Amino acid sequence: MKKHNFYAGPSILPDFTIQKTAEAVINFAGTSLSVLEISHRSKEFVAVMDQAIALVKELLEVPEGYEVIFLQGGASLQFCMVPFNLLKKKAGYYNTGVWASKALKEAKFFGEVVEVASSKDKNYNYIPKNVSIPSDIDYLHITTNNTIFGTQIYKDIDAPVRLVADMSSDIFSRPIDISKYDLIYAGAQKNLAPAGVTLVIVRKDALGKTGRPIPTMLDYNTHIEGVSMFNTPPVLSVFAGLQTLLWLKENGGIKAMEVKNIAKAKLLYDEIDRNKMFTCPVPNPEDRSKMNVVFVMAPGFEELEKAFLAKAKELNILGIEGHRSVGGFRASIYNAMPIESVAVLVNAMKEFEAQN
Ligand SMILES: *Cc1c(COP(=O)(O)O)cnc(C)c1O
Repeated sequence: MKKHNFYAGPSILPDFTIQKTAEAVINFAGTSLSVLEISHRSKEFVAVMDQAIALVKELLEVPEGYEVIFLQGGASLQFCMVPFNLLKKKAGYYNTGVWASKALKEAKFFGEVVEVASSKDKNYNYIPKNVSIPSDIDYLHITTNNTIFGTQIYKDIDAPVRLVADMSSDIFSRPIDISKYDLIYAGAQKNLAPAGVTLVIVRKDALGKTGRPIPTMLDYNTHIEGVSMFNTPPVLSVFAGLQTLLWLKENGGIKAMEVKNIAKAKLLYDEIDRNKMFTCPVPNPEDRSKMNVVFVMAPGFEELEKAFLAKAKELNILGIEGHRSVGGFRASIYNAMPIESVAVLVNAMKEFEAQN
């Protein structure tokens, strides 16, 4: 029976990606070898890497002057690589969640860090507004989608300084104006590929300004010059990522994806707001994530949480347990999630209300 996969990450991928990757594990590009056992320097794999880089540039309309690279170490290694490469004296960070605060913590190894804005006072349930961004910082770091708390900075912000964004959980979900950013990074396992690869888009002229020596593997320039093949890349993850990029293109690209994502999020939030048994801890609709929908039992119904999880399980709805720091539920509705699965969850909520 069909499973409805709401896991936060690793998470749902398009059927196309799974199918093509499974085929390549058996016979990659007509070589009669598995993608698991072929040299990353073979012409067949080099073509995969080149096409993946080209498609990221095409789909996100990456302007001249930027480089696209695939790295390892997850988004978490970027928490340290970003300041290693960009922080000369002082950096500013938005503290809007667990991942944002982890990024901030790592930057402190490299210089002064200012918490430019924070939503910690309300358990990260909003995006700070009217932030005044200092002009004497080397860069401002934001987390565009707070995967755990279900908030999102949906509009590209205008910063008077270099802008760095962790887009791990919303890259490719909506059009972005790359020219407003100097560096974007995203662990692939939310919206692109299996775990093991991290996408980085960097403005070349942002690099090489700190005067600090950087170990070879942690220097973005190493991977730019090596075309993401300075050392052995995670071939399977890159291959799968390419399939997702091809699927995105085939399905109308990022604008079409955004239309679907808005419809899916609206369907679910409307039900949370309507249903007396559930409530969304993020009060301002503008701040609500279109990728990770967090909701909890409404006051008076708290003791029914386990019962709703059991009902969901019965209906093959998987992965909606909330993160321990928020509790309740979290439905991750990434690009590959069909609206039909969101409708199954919404119907479960309606039935649950009628039954209790
Ligand atoms: C999942 C996630 C991370 C951590 O990614 P890893 O690849 O596991 O290091 C960082 N930031 C955000 C926003 C995430 O959603």
